[in-house]
Amino acid sequence: MQQSFIIYLTRTFIEMSICTLEQLENKISLTAEEKAWKEDKLSLPLLITDYYMNLIDPKDVNDSLRRQVVPSSKENRLGPLENPDPLAELENSKTGRLIHRYESRVAFLATDICAQYCRHCFRRRFTGNMQGPATRDEVLDAAEYLKENKKIKELLLTGGDPLTLSDSSLEEMVSILREARPDLIIRICTRMVAVQPSRITDNLIKVFKKFKSAPFYLMVQFNHPRELTEQATQACAKFIDAGIPAMNQSVLLNGVNDSADVLEELCNALVFARIKPYYLFQGDLVSGTSGFRVPLEKGLQIERELRRRLSGLAMPVYAADLPQGGGKVPLCGSYIEGFENGVWTFRTLEGERRLYPDPQ
Ligand SMILES: *Cc1c(COP(=O)(O)O)cnc(C)c1O
Ligand code: SF4
Repeated sequence: MQQSFIIYLTRTFIEMSICTLEQLENKISLTAEEKAWKEDKLSLPLLITDYYMNLIDPKDVNDSLRRQVVPSSKENRLGPLENPDPLAELENSKTGRLIHRYESRVAFLATDICAQYCRHCFRRRFTGNMQGPATRDEVLDAAEYLKENKKIKELLLTGGDPLTLSDSSLEEMVSILREARPDLIIRICTRMVAVQPSRITDNLIKVFKKFKSAPFYLMVQFNHPRELTEQATQACAKFIDAGIPAMNQSVLLNGVNDSADVLEELCNALVFARIKPYYLFQGDLVSGTSGFRVPLEKGLQIERELRRRLSGLAMPVYAADLPQGGGKVPLCGSYIEGFENGVWTFRTLEGERRLYPDPQ
């Protein structure tokens, strides 16, 4: 009797990954702040894939990719108002692994394990605790809840990274959920394409192609144009060619992508790779991540500049997930200046004024 789902990560793959500071020091020389990082109960494990390590410039201590994966002692500091669960996901949990925050969609935490841990991870309360994949009972509970709540139209298969599960485990998990709700759109939320693209095998794609009732969407996270390598692009193309559209959710990160130039390049490259830039997230108030957060005013300035430079297709929605489970809100300057005697006053992107009367 199979009680739990099998994890894909093979021994060789794990053996090639970096999981201690000592191993890391053989690759790059660590700064004092990086050396001083202390692993404690709340901290995210250190895990960097060999593939991603090779994308990092060992000579640049401020490398945008290095900052996303090399821990620093800044993470050991708890910033004001920070906590491990700012989105109040625990409060909104309906079954063991199912978060129901918005009427029409739910998030199912397939596993807490990732192929590599992002230092800016917003789900620290859960990620990398080594609980492993959801149990069969947890999947059955979620399936039951989905059956009873027909207002739910989309399921986010997330975590952790659901693609750390073996193909057969994924297939079993998806079939249980699909059987309960054949009409449910499933979003596969993963960073695997950016951190271990070789995981995207033809067999994995076949698993998803077997389920024909409702569409899948691939939700990826690229934060910097250098992550969009030939291999990563090919990995995404496998999904897209199989009829699974791809969307990108970036996080606005201090010292990584907090510039209109970097994000302009990233978004245009994404569109070229047939990946729609969907969200650009303002950093959540998660414990130990203050070093990554960008002041809102700067974020809004970048948003304004991107809106001027990018096509509608290439432009993501800049959004914040508000503390205490407030939910997502778009962040965008207003282009409306006023309303008087039935006439609206607008500011154009170039800063000019235009009048727009309501119908009389
Ligand atoms: C972000 C999120 C969703 C999806 O929101 P969209 O705006 O539809 O992308 C669903 N559930 C939870 C808990 C979320 O955090
Ligand atoms: S891949 Fe996602 S869940 Fe995993 S560490 Fe990164 S942000 Fe967190």
